This record gives sequence, C-alpha cells and structure tokens, in this order.
Amino acid sequence: MAGVAENLIEIRDEIAAACVKAGRAREDVHLIAVSKTFPVESIHEAVKAGQTVFGESKLQEAEPKVRALPASLEWHFIGRVQRNKVRKILQISSVIHAIDSLKLADHVSKVALESARRPRLYLQVNLAGELSKGGFSPDELRHDLKDILSLPGVEIIGLMTIPPADDDCENSRKWFSGLRLLRDELEKEFHVSLPFLSMGMSGDFQIAIEEGATHVRVGSAIFGKRVYRVDGELG
Ligand SMILES: *Cc1c(COP(=O)(O)O)cnc(C)c1O
Repeated sequence: MAGVAENLIEIRDEIAAACVKAGRAREDVHLIAVSKTFPVESIHEAVKAGQTVFGESKLQEAEPKVRALPASLEWHFIGRVQRNKVRKILQISSVIHAIDSLKLADHVSKVALESARRPRLYLQVNLAGELSKGGFSPDELRHDLKDILSLPGVEIIGLMTIPPADDDCENSRKWFSGLRLLRDELEKEFHVSLPFLSMGMSGDFQIAIEEGATHVRVGSAIFGKRVYRVDGELG
C-alpha cells in the first residue's frame, strides 16, 4: 500500500484529469481529506504533503485530533449532527455537511448566534429515499428552504448527498446529476445562490466532478483501508 503522500498526489492527479474531462476549472474543485478512524500520524503525513482541509464525522474522535494538529487546518464536520453536540462541533469546525432538517438548522443557527460564530452549512439531500440515511427529500427541501434561508446565524452554501452504495460507480452518476439539477431549480425558485455541491467519495469522486461537485470527500483512497468497529458502524 502506497503512503499517504503518494496517494494524495495520485488523487490530485485524478481530480485534475476529471476537471479536464469535464471542461471545468481545477480551482473550482476542492479536496476534503476524510480522516475519520485514521490516527493523527496519518493526518500529519497529509499535512506535510500540503493538505489543509480535513473531514471528521464524530465529535469525540475529532476533538483530540483537532487539538493535536496545527491550528491552521480547516475541519469539516461530515457526520450526523446530534443536537446536544452542536456547541462543541462549532468549536472545532466551521463547515457542517449533513444538516438534514429545518429543526436542526434552526438549532445550529441559535447556538451559533450564542457562540458568536457563523458556520457554513450544506443541506443533505436523500435523493434515493434510503431509510438508513439522513437528509431532506427534494420535496421537504422545497418546502423548508425559505425558512432555512432566513435563519440569521448560519450561511447556507450548498447541497450534499451520499448516493446509495454500489459496486459500479457509474450508478452514482444519476444521483450526482440529480443533486446538481435540484440545486439549479432551487436557485431559480428561491433567488438564492447555492454555489457548492459536496458529493463524491473514494469510489466515485471523478464522476461526481463530471457532474458538478465542488467539494469531494475522499477518505480511504488517501489514508488506506478503514478498520470497521465491532458494531459494524463506520467510525
Ligand atoms: C466516510 C465518509 C466519506 C469518505 O468515504 P471514503 O469512501 O473512505 O472516501 C465521505 N463522506 C462521508 C459523509 C463519510 O462519512
């Protein structure tokens, strides 16, 4: 298995190639290195190789890592957000990717105002209607977006999705294009700019880029195979 630095070089090359293929500017696509379940030493290697943006999905795991690493790094919270952890999440990350209800967005806004922070939020969309995943259905989002956009404590920067797991990455394409089309529709209907699309992981980020991703969340392709916990849940 190649090291983190080599993997990063390869991923960056693949991102650049996907941008060329899609006729997109390279600087419009950002790599979030998903470091959940991987140790601080691996993150150090990525930092040495020039990576500055990382994604974590559990507060308890992220807090000590953030403390142990340079303050200049940017941490995105990509996991499910529990209400009682919002205050602490805002202390370590300025961007949250999985806002999945008006109630949660409202709560984050209130906590943010109390904490004098203004986090940037992605609204997670569950396009396939999978019961195992969070996220707005497109209709819920159409219904709630006006209220969400009026929340004073947060900035809504775009949409995020996690397509159904599939061995054939081409099958992710329709979900990625679906998220882009939904974004285009909402921008028109609500006269708002939702510039960012957080979509694409290790197995399908090239396709996500072809379909408009601005932020790809790549973990195992950089850090190696993830070790599953005993209960089978991803860390
Ligand atoms: C774990 C995770 C990723 C990264 O997955 P890889 O397949 O390891 O690239 C991306 N997004 C979310 C929300 C995740 O939980």
